Parts: sequence; structure tokens; C-alpha cells
Amino acid sequence: MTKAAAPIECAWLLAEPGTAPARANVRIEFGGSHIASVDPLPTPPVGPRRMALPALANAHDHARTFRSATLGAFGQPLESWLPFLGVLPGVDPYLCAATSFARSVRHGVTNLVVHYTRVQGGMPYVDEALAVARAARDVGVHIGFAVAMRDRHGIGLCDDATVLAALRPTLREPVQQRLAVRPLPPTEHLAVVEALALALAAEPGLADHSTLQYGPAGVQWCSTPLLESIAAASHASGRPVHMHLLETKYQREWADHAHPQGIVKYLDQIGLLSPRLTLAHCAWARADELALLAERGVTIAVNTSSNLGLKSGIAPVPEMLRQGCRVAMGLDGMAFNEDDDALHEMRLAFALHRGWGFDSGMSPAQLWAFAAQNGLRSVLGAAAETTTCGVLKPGAAADLLVLDWNALDDDPLFDDTDPLHLLLARGRGLHIQDVVAAGCTVVRNGVVTGIDEPALRAELLARTRSALAAAPGFAAWRRQIGEMAEDLGPFYRSQGFGLCC
Ligand SMILES: [Zn+2]
Repeated sequence: MTKAAAPIECAWLLAEPGTAPARANVRIEFGGSHIASVDPLPTPPVGPRRMALPALANAHDHARTFRSATLGAFGQPLESWLPFLGVLPGVDPYLCAATSFARSVRHGVTNLVVHYTRVQGGMPYVDEALAVARAARDVGVHIGFAVAMRDRHGIGLCDDATVLAALRPTLREPVQQRLAVRPLPPTEHLAVVEALALALAAEPGLADHSTLQYGPAGVQWCSTPLLESIAAASHASGRPVHMHLLETKYQREWADHAHPQGIVKYLDQIGLLSPRLTLAHCAWARADELALLAERGVTIAVNTSSNLGLKSGIAPVPEMLRQGCRVAMGLDGMAFNEDDDALHEMRLAFALHRGWGFDSGMSPAQLWAFAAQNGLRSVLGAAAETTTCGVLKPGAAADLLVLDWNALDDDPLFDDTDPLHLLLARGRGLHIQDVVAAGCTVVRNGVVTGIDEPALRAELLARTRSALAAAPGFAAWRRQIGEMAEDLGPFYRSQGFGLCC
């Protein structure tokens, strides 16, 4: 069980990095899930130096435990990478989610979106979603749980028959069997959300740790009737919507062919663009599309490492900022070192987007809004507007990180070195000692307090290995996914891929 956090005394406080200067020698006290006071100390606290700063938010993730290279998908672009997520039989959803959340929170994230696209199966969807919500409660994080919805194009970006025809004949039947979508009517997708809402409210502690959302997979994977129903349901219920958009150049090609009047205009026409919507990626969005997203108050979750790891590209973040978009950081389960390190992710995003030479495309204050503040809208929905988050001051949410400053600042020479510069230059998850979420200590001395993470990880590995041994068909399927990846290359590279769909 997580416990209410004791007061924290630290050598440095970054109350709002990039906006307010660091303060030396501070004591933070908590009152329930909020910060009660932040007061100066007359002398430096005894013991090793520590730094406190607000916790980070992850505006796009999927709560997957097993990482890309483990699954054999290293170096695959998104289109051939996606099938690799199915190389394992379904295993216990609580174990998967709890170990994923534990890794996230140890690396600095207390609020995250779970776009639950990888269903383990073996139980009704609502029961599986409840297991994920219990994992969030036990670890002590808050999740935006987006119920994944997809009713077409199971195998690729366009209709199944077209993609199947591009595969070698021996693959067509197994691929269709495993990946083709059996579409449900929109009402059934929405009924799952309503059933889950009731179930979350019925079990103590779950609603405090999860915000229910609609999670259409992407425009190429959802029919217009489904997207229209989601838009109407979100408008009526106020629940957020979370969706991928324009992640790869092939999705751009498909979008331009399928929606020649503009895919973002299309989303606007069907009523999906609103402050309730978060769009993951938008790596291939154009300036006029970004302008419309900004006008409608949509949040864009940029996944820098994921876009590099899956060879998707580099999102036009400076242009997004110029257009006035709300841009938030996502990790997408694909941090650069496959470790969910949010501090490292923040640095990588800054390095890529701050501008070259004397140009400035992103300021430290904008970086902080990106990494810690804007994502809360994606996780919490409208509740983020009434909560002060991503800043440490009385009345704000008590979500913070305590870093081992002696380890980070291990070669000090000057008294006036800005602690923010050290944080942005070298801060990593391994420097995080303690994490407080909603006023509770959820990580102490680098160890997750609410669950036995090493034991759960060991159990998950053992169960997954025995599930693989008991399902010999997965070895053949794994080989076929590799063959499919070989065949998808020429298909997507072929000139005018978008025209054939
Ligand atoms: Zn994603």
C-alpha cells in the first residue's frame, strides 16, 4: 500500500522549471492529495542534497510491458512493427499493466494515458479493463483509460483484401485469420464504455485513479459511422477522446487519398475536434491542419522516441507551437532506451525541437508545459482545468519527483550554476529517489511501494514463457510475421500506395 507522504526538505526546488528560478533550501508539506505549504528553510537540510520538481505526464501510452526489441521488432517501421505486438499469447492483464506502470513511475511519470489497444483476451473486456485500473490504483498512478475501438483495416492502412494480395500466398490465410477485424456496430463499442463506467464506479479506489475515455485507433482504422458516434458520445458525456493521427508517411499518403478535402477538416466536420480530443503523433501534419487543431483546442501528444524508433519521422513541434497548439509529451511505450525514462525523453525532445544555431523553436518554459503540464488535459480531461498541476505551490496537486542531487551534480565548480541546466543536460530516471503522487509516496529510494515489482515481473515472465510453450502455434506465427514484414516493404514503398486503397 502507498502511504501519505511525509514532509520533504530539499536543497533545491524547481517549482515551475523554465518559468520560476530554482529555490534553495525548501520544505514542502502535504495536505491530502495537495501541497499544503512550500517554505524556505533557514539552513540547508541535513543529509545528502536532493532536488524536488513536479512529476511528468505521459500523454500517450499503451501500458505494454514487453518492449519492442524483446518481441523481435527492432528496426521495423510502424506498419510492419504492429503485427509483432501479437507474437505473444495473452497473459494476465494485471501483471502486464502493474509492471508497466511501475517502470513508468520509477522514471518520473505519475499521470499517463493508456490507449488500451493490446487486449490480452481470455476474459470480458470490462473485466480486463478493471484489472488495468486496479494496477493503476495499486501502483498509485492516475491513468486516462481509453477504450480502443477499431472496425476496419485490421491488417494494414487500407482494406484487408488489398494488403493480403501483396503478401506471399502462404501467408494470406494465417494473416487473415489472426488480424482481420470482425467489426462491431458503433453501439456495441459505446456500450463497452458505459459498462466500464459503471464497473469503475462500483469498485472502491478505481475511479480515483482512472479517467475513462474513448479510444478510436485512428481514422484509417475506424469507419465514419464509428467516429461520428464517438464524437456525439463524447459531446454528450464530456469524456475525452484519444486517437492516433498521421503517424507515418504512409498514413499521410492514405489520408490524402481517402480525404482529398483534408483529413483534419473531415474530423472537424464530423464533430470530433474539441478540447476533449488528444491526437497522438501528427508527425506528418501540415501547417494549415495544425492551425485548425489549435483553433479547436485539441491536444497533440508528440512521441519523439517512438517516432525515431519506428522510423516514422520527426514531428513538426516548432510549427505546432507557432500555430498555438497544445503539445504534450508521449512515450508510447517506446522511450529511446526502451526504459520509459521520461526525463531522458524530455531532453531528447528539447534537443530535436529547440532549433538550430541561434534559432529558438522551443523555450524551456514551453518544454516544461510539454513534459509536465499539457499532458494532464489528455489524462484527466476537463478535470485538469480545475486542478493546478505540473507546478509545486500551495494548493497544487502533490505530484512530484525527488532527485538525488549529489549524484546528478557530481562535479560542482561554480555556485551560480543553474540547477535547471543540470537537470536538462543530464537528469535521468536513475536519479529519481522518491516519487509522490496525489500526496502518497509511490516510490521510495527507487523502489515502487504499492506492489512488489520484482516479484510481479518474475511472475509475468514465467507465465509468459509457459504460455508460449503451451501454444506452439505462436512459433509459426512469429516466423510468419517476419515474412509478412518482408512483403510489406515493397507494398508500402510502391509508388502511389495511397491510390490503390
Ligand atoms: Zn501509440
